[in-house]
Amino acid sequence: MNALEEITDSFARLPGIGKKSAGRIANYLLMADPQFLQRFAVQMADLQKKIRPCSVCGSWTENDPCPICSDLSRDRSVICVVEQPQDVSTIENSHEFNGLFHVLGGVISPLDGIGPDQLRIQSLVDRVSAGGIKEVILATNPTVEGDTTALYVQHVLRESSCTVTRLASGIPVGGDLGYADKLTLARSFRGRTKI
Ligand SMILES: [Zn+2]
Repeated sequence: MNALEEITDSFARLPGIGKKSAGRIANYLLMADPQFLQRFAVQMADLQKKIRPCSVCGSWTENDPCPICSDLSRDRSVICVVEQPQDVSTIENSHEFNGLFHVLGGVISPLDGIGPDQLRIQSLVDRVSAGGIKEVILATNPTVEGDTTALYVQHVLRESSCTVTRLASGIPVGGDLGYADKLTLARSFRGRTKI
């Protein structure tokens, strides 16, 4: 394989990029401004060095704790629980929520060998036990695994004094938070129900 074929292969490994798009990107880069390429290469090399999970909420950050966890103007009595770090950006972009987040890092999925211990559930319980939390909003995706995980989290928080709510439907069943438009997400937040 030559260098062009090799990089095409690498791009084809990225999510959402097929062999054809990979070839198009590789050919584009071949003709691109060398300065842009240089910057791009440095950005890729730095990514895993600079970005790490926030020790409090688990979302990706360059500074620990992350800007959301350190923002004292946010409502620190509400925690929105999501599956993945990218769900935090989705909800942030909706401008519908001003509380804190907690990233589970996935969902309970026995078929994939993922149980509660593989997720950041204990650290959520610890945050709630530390006090000051009035509401935990479960914003896992409306899939079988997302629902199972929400029920499990609700179960482990049953002894705590906080209210546990689930995002209202509006996000299509089996859907993904990332694909919900801002309006749907806003409606889901306003219509959340106690579970
Ligand atoms: Zn954080």
